[in-house]
Amino acid sequence: MADYSQRDLAEVPRGMELLHDPLLNKGTAFTQEERDALDLRGLLPPHVHTQEEQMARVLQQLRRMADPLDKFVALNALHDRNVALFFRVISDHVDEMQPLIYTPTVGLACQRFGQIFQRPRGMFISANDRGRIAQVLRNWPHKAGIIVVTDGERILGLGDQGAQGMGIPVGKLSLYTACAGVHPRLCLPVTIDVGTNNETLHADPFYIGLRQRRISGAAYDGLIDELVTAAREVFPDVLIQFEDFANHNAFRLLAKYRDRICSFNDDIQGTASVALAGLLSALRVSGGMLGDQKLLFLGAGEAATGIADLTVAAMVAQGLAPAAARQRCWLVDSHGLVVNGRTDLVEHKRPYAKDHAPIGDFPSAVKALGPTAIIGVAAVGGAFTREVLEDMARINTRPIVFALSNPTSKAECTAEQAYQWTGGRALFASGSPFDPVKVAGQTFVPRQGNNSYIFPGVGLGAIVSKARRITDDMFMAAARTLALLVSEADLAQGSLYPALSRIREVSAAIAATVAESAYANGFAGKPRPVDVLADVKSQMYDPRYSSYV
Ligand code: NAD
Repeated sequence: MADYSQRDLAEVPRGMELLHDPLLNKGTAFTQEERDALDLRGLLPPHVHTQEEQMARVLQQLRRMADPLDKFVALNALHDRNVALFFRVISDHVDEMQPLIYTPTVGLACQRFGQIFQRPRGMFISANDRGRIAQVLRNWPHKAGIIVVTDGERILGLGDQGAQGMGIPVGKLSLYTACAGVHPRLCLPVTIDVGTNNETLHADPFYIGLRQRRISGAAYDGLIDELVTAAREVFPDVLIQFEDFANHNAFRLLAKYRDRICSFNDDIQGTASVALAGLLSALRVSGGMLGDQKLLFLGAGEAATGIADLTVAAMVAQGLAPAAARQRCWLVDSHGLVVNGRTDLVEHKRPYAKDHAPIGDFPSAVKALGPTAIIGVAAVGGAFTREVLEDMARINTRPIVFALSNPTSKAECTAEQAYQWTGGRALFASGSPFDPVKVAGQTFVPRQGNNSYIFPGVGLGAIVSKARRITDDMFMAAARTLALLVSEADLAQGSLYPALSRIREVSAAIAATVAESAYANGFAGKPRPVDVLADVKSQMYDPRYSSYV
């Protein structure tokens, strides 16, 4: 999708103003004809570079830097100058760049946000804006199609980062564009600054946010409600993605808004979809049925209950009764197996409480319950011990082992351990990247169950179909589509996900299936086009330059 065509050339700013518009600037790649037509003569050095040459220049600059945070700053500066070149670099080198613009580097960037701050990106809305949020949102120069919003209370595994959590919506929206071609003009990162309980930040002279403790209760809910209402008033079709809210707000906000507006929570629902896709891929190898699986989760938070909820929905869609489906999902939290009779269970865990004797630890739960799959989402590094993995291999011909906790130090086991201790029989996926592993003469290529396989395509599908809701059916459809895109060659080498280099193709397919769900279930805001996939592809942003003259 080009920014400007010959037809609307009259609207293109001229001269220095054009060079300073990051969405339009091409730097030294402006052609001789464009330089004449757009009053650029003399403002650029004479040689015209191609975008490929510019990209090579950026890459050699980045690769000279040793510190990932320096690379993060350099990439941000590039985005501030030339959005198309930024996305060309990211899209063409997604394996190398994703860790720089998102996890793990973005975590450090949030912690140091005030120190590395250069130019604001996105919108900062604070508790002081109560009563005028719609007016504030009108200061945004574009018509937003998707907002990713955080209140900064649970940034990755780093806790409360206050307004410095802004790195997350910015990074996530970059992935929307890089992975699914959501046009950068449609992307609005938002931080709602409700204060921070991180005292270190209050004392930090470079801190960018309000130096006060977090507001809570009715004041907090009122502010979020005003933001949601104002966003929909100013940008009527906008999709709102809640990101990195703490448990106590994440589940509440999702429940409050999911059936009222076009919104979702990636930590809960995106994670669920990518994990379900991994399960479906694993079952392609083992030949098992989803409804016959017994899932044992280590952890009972946003990721665990999100995955369990969507897996239950998928089992129900295959004909299992809801109660029977829930009976297939077992949770272990920091107090042991989630069972009826425990008095400490918060709302989101209760549907999974079982009539079973208490079990205090995970290895005992594996022995007692005999799961077909273990899913680690408690951020307890090394929790899938040799004993656990050997038990899984004893119980199952092809044990499913998902060590999803991040960062790598929190992974429940390494890829090597998973394959080694199951005699090469584990169907393994991880939250953090692991290199290929050679076990018993076979080379395994484990892949990351990365949320970026799912959310960019879901967002694109919602935008393209003007969806009014994001439903479980859409996340299930996304999971099925992702699992089907895993090739036989991928499966043969132990990969439960496709290569990340195919991400634009994957996202387009997911967007089409999400849009189909919207059209079929009455959630679309426009009639179904004849060719849904072609419609999706026609709306994907292409970072390669188009000609202005
Ligand atoms: P969360 O804080 O919502 O949940 C953590 C859960 O772990 C809580 O239920 C807690 O009770 C439980 N827990 C803590 N210590 C425990 C212990 N010793 N034994 C058993 N349970 C324990 O966090 P979350 O959002 O659910 O994320 C959890 C982990 O999953 C993180 O490491 C995160 O990085 C990872 N994650 C990975 C992906 C992915 O790979 N795609 C996606 C989302 C989250």
